[in-house]
Amino acid sequence: MASTTILWLRRDLRIHDHPALWAALDCADDVLPVFVLDEGVYRGRWASADRTHALLETLRELRGALEERGGTLAVRQGDPAEVLPALVAEIGATEVHATSDASPFAIARDKRVSEALKEAGAGLVRHPGMFCADISKIRTKDGRPYAVFSPFGRNWAEAPRREVLNAPEKLKSPDIEMGAIPTVEDLGLTPVLTGPLPAGEAAARARMEEWLSDGVERYKDLHNDVARSTSRLSPYLHLGSLSARELEERVMQIPGEHPAAYRRQLAWRDFYAHVLLYSPTNTRTAYQPKFDALEWVDDPEGWKAWCDGTTGYPMVDAGMRELAATGFMHNRTRMVVGSFLTKNLHIDYRHGEEWFMKLLLDGDTSQNNGNWQWTASLGVDPAPYFKRIFNPVLQQRKFDPDGVYVKRWIPELKDVPLKRLFEPWTMSEAEQEASGCVIDRDYPGPIVDHKLERMRAIERFRAVAEPPQD
Ligand SMILES: Cc1cc2nc3c(=O)[nH]c(=O)nc-3n(C[C@H](O)[C@H](O)[C@H](O)COP(=O)(O)OP(=O)(O)OC[C@H]3O[C@@H](n4cnc5c(N)ncnc54)[C@H](O)[C@@H]3O)c2cc1C
Repeated sequence: MASTTILWLRRDLRIHDHPALWAALDCADDVLPVFVLDEGVYRGRWASADRTHALLETLRELRGALEERGGTLAVRQGDPAEVLPALVAEIGATEVHATSDASPFAIARDKRVSEALKEAGAGLVRHPGMFCADISKIRTKDGRPYAVFSPFGRNWAEAPRREVLNAPEKLKSPDIEMGAIPTVEDLGLTPVLTGPLPAGEAAARARMEEWLSDGVERYKDLHNDVARSTSRLSPYLHLGSLSARELEERVMQIPGEHPAAYRRQLAWRDFYAHVLLYSPTNTRTAYQPKFDALEWVDDPEGWKAWCDGTTGYPMVDAGMRELAATGFMHNRTRMVVGSFLTKNLHIDYRHGEEWFMKLLLDGDTSQNNGNWQWTASLGVDPAPYFKRIFNPVLQQRKFDPDGVYVKRWIPELKDVPLKRLFEPWTMSEAEQEASGCVIDRDYPGPIVDHKLERMRAIERFRAVAEPPQD
C-alpha cells in the first residue's frame, strides 16, 4: 500500500523553494497538500476581506499548479485542530509537514494542532521556508534576542542559509474529496479595494523577474522616492507565494551596492519576525513598557480625516488614499502617516495598526506591529522620541519633489502650482480659483498645526519617558 503524508499549507502558498513540500515528498509515495480555511483568521482580530480575497485567488492558482504536476490541493473549512486529525485518519497518514511561522497566533495554533495530532497518532513536523535565515538562532553574544536592527543585520548577513529548492516536477496525491475553494463573498466578506495587485505565485515570480531586471539596480538611490515603485513584492512574501530566501539568493547574485541595499531590507523583515517571536506581548502592549503609560487622545474627527485622506497635508492624504485604493502604501509614506497619527493627532498607534491590517495586502502581524511601534517610538530599535516626528511638508518636499505622487492620489490638487503643492493652504485666493482648488471647498485646510502638535507630542512623550523627580 502506498504511504501517504500531509503537507499543511499556511503562509507558504507556492511550489518553488518549499522545504516542507520536499520533506513530504521525500518521506511518502503520496502527498496531500491541504489548506484549512480557519474562521479565526478570516474573521479574527486582524481580518481583511481583501487579503482573504488574495489568499483565495492564490489557492485557486496553487491548486492548478499542483494539478499540472499530477497532485492536487485539498481545501477544508474549520479548525485545523479538528480538520487535520480527521484527514490523518481518512488517508492513514502519520505525519503532517508544515512551514514554521513566528506570530503568537501561529505558535499557539500549532501547539494545539500538534497535541490533537498526537492523540490521533500523528506528528506535526515543522520546516523552514518563511524567512531568509533561521530567525530563532540569531542571538546577541550573550545569547539574547536582538532589539536593535544594525547588530542584528550584521549577524543576519553572516548567518547560515539553506539551499534554494526547485519546484518538484511531479507529485501524486491520494484520491479524496478535494473541497471547493469558496469565493470571498461565499465567506460573507466584502472586498473594498478598487485596484489590488494580481495574486498568486505566477504573478509573484513575474514581478520578481521584472524587478531583478529593471528596478533593483537603482534601489539604494531611489527607494525613498514615493512616486517610484519599489519591488512591491511584500504581498507575495506575506502569503509565501514567493520565498524570501529565493528572492535573497537571486538578489545576491547581482553585484553592487543597490542589490546589497535591497537585501538589507529583507533583513528588516526577518528582524521584526525575530522580535515578535521573542516578545509576543508586543501585539498588545509597547515593547518599551514605560510607554504603556502614554495617554492617547480620543479624536473621532481627526481619525476620520486620517482614514479618509482629508487631513489637508497632501503627503499624508496621498498615502491614505493609495492604501484605500490599492491595499499598498510606499514605506516612506507609511512612516509619515504613522507619525502624523501618533504625534500630530496623538491617536493610539494600535488604531493605525488595525486600520493598516484591514487594508494592507501585505498586512502581517509581525511586520505591521514592529513598524508601527518603531514609528510611534515605543518599540525596538529605539531612538529618542523627538527624532521620529516626521514633518509631512518637509517629507513631501524631499521625497515627492515634483508632486507626481501627490497629484496621482489627490486629483483636487492636479492644477495647483508646484511651489504651493507642499502647503496648498498658502495659496492666495486668486491662486486657489485659478487652480480650481479652493481650500476648505475642494480640498481641506490642515486639520492641525504640525509645529504645535510636534511640541505637544514631545511633552507627552517626555512626561512618561523622563517623569519629573520629586
Ligand atoms: C507603519 C508601517 C507599517 C508597515 N506594515 C507592514 C506590513 O504589515 N507588512 C509588511 O510586509 N511590511 C510592512 N511595513 C514595511 C514596509 O513598508 C513594507 O514592507 C514595504 O513598503 C513593502 O513594499 P515593497 O515590497 O515594495 O518594499 P521594498 O522596498 O521593495 O523592500 C523589499 C522587501 O523588504 C522588506 N522590507 C522593506 N522595508 C521593510 C520594513 N520597514 N520592515 C520590514 N520589512 C521591510 C519587505 O519584505 C519588502 O517587500 C510597514 C511599514 C510601516 C512604516
